[in-house]
Parts: sequence; C-alpha cells; structure tokens
Amino acid sequence: MKILKTIEEVRSQIKEWRKQGLTVGLVPTMGYLHEGHASLIDASHKENDKTVVSDFVNPMQFGPSEDLESYPRDIAHDAKLVEAHGGDLIFHPEPAEMYHEGFSSFVDMTVLTQELCGLSRPVHFRGVCTVVTKLFNIIQPDRAYFGKKDAQQLAVIQHMVDDLNMNIEIIGCPIVREEDGLAKSSRNTYLNAEERKAALVLSKAIFLGMQMVKDGEKESAVIIQKMQETIAAEPLAKADYVKIVDCTTMQQIPSLDRPALCAIAVYIGKTRLIDNFFTEDL
Ligand code: AMP
Repeated sequence: MKILKTIEEVRSQIKEWRKQGLTVGLVPTMGYLHEGHASLIDASHKENDKTVVSDFVNPMQFGPSEDLESYPRDIAHDAKLVEAHGGDLIFHPEPAEMYHEGFSSFVDMTVLTQELCGLSRPVHFRGVCTVVTKLFNIIQPDRAYFGKKDAQQLAVIQHMVDDLNMNIEIIGCPIVREEDGLAKSSRNTYLNAEERKAALVLSKAIFLGMQMVKDGEKESAVIIQKMQETIAAEPLAKADYVKIVDCTTMQQIPSLDRPALCAIAVYIGKTRLIDNFFTEDL
C-alpha cells in the first residue's frame, strides 16, 4: 500500500495499472477513517482490481465559520485501515497541490444543492463537486464509492456525473452505525460524554421515521412532526432540519408517493450531525 502526495505520481501509477488492463475503484474521503469508510473500501476492493482512497480535507467545501482547522486528521491510522481493507493507494495531497495559485475554475450545481444541507452550508456542494471532479480527472476510476450517510452528496455526485457525461459508475453504500445506533462519523470525536449520549437522538428519530413508513404512514408532515418531537425532547439537541424529499431531485414532497429520502441535521452542542433513510431501502 502506497501513500502518494502529488498528482504526477498518482497519474503515473494509474497509467501503469491501466497498461496492465486493471480496473480502478476510487473512495473519496477526508480522512480520519472509521468503519463507515472501511465499508466503501471493502466494496471497491471486491469489485475492482485496484482501490485508490483519497485522503484530503478539502478546504473548498468548508464555510468561513466551519470546522476546517479543527477537523481531525491522522494519516498513520488511515494508512493502517486502508491496508487492512485491501486498498492499494492513498492519495494524500497538500491543499496547494490541489489548488495552485490562481485556481479559479469551479463545478457548481443548482436545484439539488438548494435544499437540505445546501441551505445552511451555501458553499459546501460547490467545493464537493469541484474536488470530486478533480479527483475523477486525476484518477479516472471505473467506479467511485460514496456513503448513503451523506445522502444529498451522493445524489449531487450522481447528478453531476449524468449532467456532465462523466464515464464513471457511482456506487452508494449503506450507513454504518455504532452499536447503539449513532451513524459513524469523523465528527463524532467532537462530542464529550454527555453530548455523545444526547447524539443518540438522531438515530432514535430516524428509526422512528423508518417505523412509521413501514407501518404505512404516507403523509410527510405527520412523520416529520413525530421526528421533530423526538429531537426536541433532548435538551442538548437543536434540529437544523427534518425533511422528506424526492430521492433524486432533493425537492420536498408532501406525501410518500415516490421513492423518498428522509434526512435530518441536528446540532448537538456546537457539533452538527446528519442522518437519514431512503424509503426504498426499507
Ligand atoms: P468523509 O470522510 O466524511 O467526507 O466521508 C467520505 C465518504 O465516506 C463519504 O462518501 C461518506 O458518505 C462515507 N461515510 C462516512 N461515514 C459513513 C458511514 N457511517 N457509513 C457509510 N459511509 C460513510
């Protein structure tokens, strides 16, 4: 397992693999890897000859008041995890390698990014689309793996690939949770013991919503109301949003008459956490 820091080195490794007729899977990450990331690496390892993991805290997808500086980083730990799960290469560039002086080209998207997390994180998806396009251009993978944990991101990337005719298969992988239900996230490390307990309100609300859908509830407002009540009962939690949207357009829908995504974002103290479910997965 190699760690490469420059675009040139990565390109020459990929070229060598391509000469040998090997397929390549890409797992884009911001590092501080956990079992959620590992599940994407496992999926790529199964379906491709070579797996590249990008490990890059992308400054462009953080707003000015967000946690770019404090975002956790541990490349030595990441290297062990990637190797243990059959990854072949980590691309770990410095910001200056990805964004040279004078960088001024962006990939942006309307509609899908103007809902859910896009409302409270206005520059986020432009940063995501731009960095993922760069990674696709550098690595030119056959397949790229994204977690359903970031459901809007998955929809946005799939839409970008369709809109811009990128010849890459996008694979969405299930949410990996802690034993008690909390969705695994690098940001869970920000939580103190009391907040960690309070954070269970996210999965509690999600599991309640899932059950209501399974029991046949079709009215979005009824499901949202119950989920909001669950979140409001936790004093350390403050809901950013609880919404039900069409799973491809990300636009709100009043009833579950088509495949939908139920997504929430909740502040636990200062930490903003997300969780969701797709009705099609129930
Ligand atoms: P991040 O490093 O947080 O940007 O995440 C990198 C990729 O891992 C994204 O596609 C995430 O959706 C995915 N991911 C993060 N946490 C989980 C999880 N708990 N289960 C499944 N995928 C995840």
